[in-house]
Amino acid sequence: MSEKVKVLIIGSGPAGYTAAIYAARAAMNPVLYTGMQPGGQLTTTNDVENFPGYPQGVKGPDMMMDLQKQAERFGTQVFFEMATSADFKTYPFKVTLGDGKTREALSVIIATGASAKYLGLESEKTYANRGVSACATCDGYFFREQRVAVIGAGDSAAEEASYLSHLCKEVHLLVRRNEMRASHIMQQRVKNTPNIIIHWNTETEEIVGNKEKVTGIRVFNNLTKEKKEIPLEGVFLAIGHQPNTSLFKGQLDMDENGYIKVKPGSTHTNIPGVFAVGDAADKVYRQAITAAGTGCMGALDAEKFLALQP
Ligand code: NDP
Repeated sequence: MSEKVKVLIIGSGPAGYTAAIYAARAAMNPVLYTGMQPGGQLTTTNDVENFPGYPQGVKGPDMMMDLQKQAERFGTQVFFEMATSADFKTYPFKVTLGDGKTREALSVIIATGASAKYLGLESEKTYANRGVSACATCDGYFFREQRVAVIGAGDSAAEEASYLSHLCKEVHLLVRRNEMRASHIMQQRVKNTPNIIIHWNTETEEIVGNKEKVTGIRVFNNLTKEKKEIPLEGVFLAIGHQPNTSLFKGQLDMDENGYIKVKPGSTHTNIPGVFAVGDAADKVYRQAITAAGTGCMGALDAEKFLALQP
């Protein structure tokens, strides 16, 4: 355990495992720490139909198991542990783990992902994957010709509502204030789409269902206090994501939302030898396939970095 790790990967979503596959095949003996949610966000997704190469779709947890096996096949050591702190000020870098032990690493690939924010209602958990989702691109297709709600008023909510308007019969956009935060052009798009119905000053009280699946959403107008139930089949949360990067605050350059800044077209952070991949550094695309793509880039960037070390 005390030898220096050439490539230490933190995180076990598509970005982390793809980085591991490439690093392992380049004989860099990667060590991967999975974090608290082994497999990442995809383990909370039922069917993945948009990852190229699976014509029949694949269950999110199955895909993550496959990625893990593929990474291990080439020699990645996978540990079901959390990284609790990291020291990038000295070299080799030091990463401390849940059990208090510290590992030294010659390069680190951060693939800690992001977590969708939820309202905190019990019914969100009850109907997760049974009508409640935080990703329209991933799950919108399951609601073709049905009625859905999108909660939120930022660019994500506007984008998700627009995307869903092409698939669904009705899209109810639930905005808690009397204005949207989204960019002007996105707002215009939403407002000009006939099957997007905007409910202003509207907050969610409960997601309603029949135990099997969602059947509606109970909302209230926060000015008039009037309550109503909108019958629908799907509810999409779009109230923001939180990148899982607090561990690295103060050491890595981040934007105001906590996404790690990388040099454009690469995975280089402000610290040579530390690379950021996947959703931890991407607030725009946030897809499994784009995360996997940047995971590959991270491993290639780490390989070049290590080759230049004395
Ligand atoms: P934002 O933080 O921009 O917006 C979150 C929205 O959710 C806000 O409108 C907020 O309401 C609302 N909200 C928060 N909590 C609640 C709640 N409890 N109940 C109801 N509504 C709630 O997050 P986004 O994910 O939309 O965007 C994050 C960043 O990514 C932004 O900088 C955005 O511009 C960017 N982005 C860019 C895209 C692009 O360029 N194509 C696409 C998607 C995102 P309120 O306004 O009242 O605070």
